[in-house]
Amino acid sequence: MHPPGAGTVLVRYGEVGIKSDQLRTRMEKQLQANSRAILDDRDLPGSVEQAYTRLYVHTTPARIDEVTDAVTDAFGVVSASPALRVDPTMAAICDALADAARDQYDGQTFAVRAQRAGPQSAHPFSSPELEREGGSVVHTAAQEEGYEPTVDLDDPEMTFSVECRQDDAYVFLERRDGPGGLPVGTQKPLVALVSGGIDSPVAAWLTMKRGAPVIPLYVDLGEYGGVDHRMRAIDTVERLRRFAPNVDCRLRVAPGGEGIEQIAGVTEMYRMLVARRFMFRIAAAVAEDVGAVGVVTGESIGQKSSQTTANLRVTSAAIDLPIHRPLLSMDKPEITERAKKIGSYDDSTIDAGCQQLAPEAPATQPPLERIGAAEPDDLARLAAEAAAAITVADGDPSA
Ligand code: ATP
Ligand code: MG
Repeated sequence: MHPPGAGTVLVRYGEVGIKSDQLRTRMEKQLQANSRAILDDRDLPGSVEQAYTRLYVHTTPARIDEVTDAVTDAFGVVSASPALRVDPTMAAICDALADAARDQYDGQTFAVRAQRAGPQSAHPFSSPELEREGGSVVHTAAQEEGYEPTVDLDDPEMTFSVECRQDDAYVFLERRDGPGGLPVGTQKPLVALVSGGIDSPVAAWLTMKRGAPVIPLYVDLGEYGGVDHRMRAIDTVERLRRFAPNVDCRLRVAPGGEGIEQIAGVTEMYRMLVARRFMFRIAAAVAEDVGAVGVVTGESIGQKSSQTTANLRVTSAAIDLPIHRPLLSMDKPEITERAKKIGSYDDSTIDAGCQQLAPEAPATQPPLERIGAAEPDDLARLAAEAAAAITVADGDPSA
């Protein structure tokens, strides 16, 4: 919902705005570049203007809805409003409010909210004055359309908002939520282990939401995995790309088949844990190669036997790099809901490859030494080789 002729998107970014000056400037630049990249990726016209604690995307009224949706995909954005730009005078603002009321008002309870930015002396009216005058203009316009409008200042069904700057003012009717967080690219990168299941793409997305670019890594399990799994992983990663087209988050594939074959011979009880330690070693080696400073997984406490708190201790001990688990405390329904919002939810019933490797009675509280002793001797070498042989997936299933 927006005033007729709206051609500017007002973009708000909460957390970025409260950083120290130097850091804020860097984050704002990154947010500007990221928004620009999303617009370009979707062939949307618009110029991105940086102002104090706001971004303004000036575009054409014909594309205003798409542009608003696009910028609300950028990490760091708290909300965005499609707005009409007018002169910062009482008359121009009231005209715009009346137009908006005639065009969009539909009998709801309403309120007018006004905010002024810049020095006090910039406008010959106060925000309350603007709200009173605007409210009466909207009321009259609504009456002329045949309604009996009611003002509700506490909990209005429709809010006519005005933001007044020194040189211009903006009128808007809605706020669309963004993801919040920090602009991606403002943290050092992390390697995200992505299996193509429901969890791992959500973990990667949440990591980017806090500003860290991810290098998605899929471990090809050879005959325990398969082309279907890889394709699924490629597809989910493609979803992530939409949120950050300027991050190179193409899926990297490590050939883990040889290692997994060795692991298949490990005593049943410890097999899954050894397999997970193998993946972590591959991820750590890739991280070193690409300059990433940690590993991300879609694990959540107790979701599987390999994810008990005791087993997370055993698997985490395989590498020195920190392993980040953004889903640690989330339940499956919460994760699924998030995956649907992101668009990575895939209700494919294909079982993950590891199922074939999964024993009937896995250990849930194994002593760390026993795991180390159970590991095939050349596992470290196999992990290093797999990491050295990664390829970039291009979506071709025969590749
Ligand atoms: P997902 O967690 O993605 O839904 P899943 O629950 O079937 O898949 P688990 O066996 O629980 O996967 O694995 C836990 C985590 O280990 C995954 O979230 C992912 O980060 C990582 N992982 C599992 N299998 C692979 C793989 N083949 N390649 C890369 N990472 C993997
Ligand atoms: Mg999982």
